[in-house]
Amino acid sequence: MGNVEGCIFCQIAQGKIPSDVVFETDKLIAFRDIHPKSPVHILIIPKNHVNARLDLTQQDVETLPEIFLAAKEITRKEGIGERGFRLIANVGPESGQEVDHLHFHILGGKRLGPM
Ligand code: AMP
Repeated sequence: MGNVEGCIFCQIAQGKIPSDVVFETDKLIAFRDIHPKSPVHILIIPKNHVNARLDLTQQDVETLPEIFLAAKEITRKEGIGERGFRLIANVGPESGQEVDHLHFHILGGKRLGPM
């Protein structure tokens, strides 16, 4: 799907909008959430646009395991790998997804209650 005009996360992935980047590869980028809901709140996104219908290409599918490896690396660096964290993706309207570009939230740094 490439980059979608007007998508804020595509613009972050392209470096057109500044963000607090904590991890990056050619396929994905991770940056701190602008409105953190826990002491550690980081978003991991594929650089390629994936919409809320999960219209995944083969390239997108190959990026998904790397997102989990990135989460492992990031949480270790942030000191929450052992303590535990939440790794979640809101997908589609009923989930409350606000940004229509697939993203995984890493939430941690405090005891997280039930959802
Ligand atoms: P969701 O509700 O799952 O779509 O989450 C979208 C998240 O993106 C929210 O937690 C927002 O605070 C976050 N967000 C929106 N714009 C930015 C931005 N420019 N930089 C960092 N995080 C953002």
